[in-house]
Amino acid sequence: MKEFFRRRKTSFTTGEQSESNQVPDDMWVKCSSCRELVYKKELNDGLKVCPKCGHHMRMSAHEWLGLLDAGSFSETDANLLPTDPLGFVSLDESYTEKLAKAQQRTGMPDAVLAGIGTIHGGRLAFAAGDFAFMGSSMGSVYGEKMSRAAERAADLGIPLLTINTSGGARQQEGVIALMQMAKVTMALTRLAEAGQPHISLMVDPCYGGVTASYASVADVIIAEPGANIGFAGKRLKLAHFAKTIQY
Ligand SMILES: [Zn+2]
Repeated sequence: MKEFFRRRKTSFTTGEQSESNQVPDDMWVKCSSCRELVYKKELNDGLKVCPKCGHHMRMSAHEWLGLLDAGSFSETDANLLPTDPLGFVSLDESYTEKLAKAQQRTGMPDAVLAGIGTIHGGRLAFAAGDFAFMGSSMGSVYGEKMSRAAERAADLGIPLLTINTSGGARQQEGVIALMQMAKVTMALTRLAEAGQPHISLMVDPCYGGVTASYASVADVIIAEPGANIGFAGKRLKLAHFAKTIQY
């Protein structure tokens, strides 16, 4: 008798669906906050803010171009490519291999997309990090693109908007990565001398050397609602971190 009430998968089979009834999987996204299904187009039209609960989902650097006037963006410094100055090899793979995988996955040469665009017709320099590229860690290319964006804004007499998400300095570039903190901050000094503002938008997650340097050196700092922002996250496991580095 118990078997009679047991719910079986086959009980729910409705036979073959016609093609017109099938909903493609990628049309809907589950909100990571309210767990509601959201129509993907509606989500993207609203720059990935959940229409049900207002949760701000993570965006790629290219998706952040949605802040700019349509068609106004022209990319700069697209030809800057990362190198492996230390010949860094961790236990599982080399930095060169890691970079190649990240480049293939994201279609970006490194973690920053920079250029010039307009918002409501106002011209500005734009530079955005992409967390999908090695946690948007700040290496030499990241720092150089941010610095050049600031210098270009100073030269052109326009504001700078940076969109900042990062796990911190890129450990595979060692001290060269740490130097970027000072380099970008110096470039921002030139922007300040030119009388132009730096607007820093800090989005989820924003940690380490990025928070500790240029992202906090701004005339206007905007934090995305609910974003994790800090220096070291509570999930950082130093013992594990040390083990993954082979000297
Ligand atoms: Zn939601």
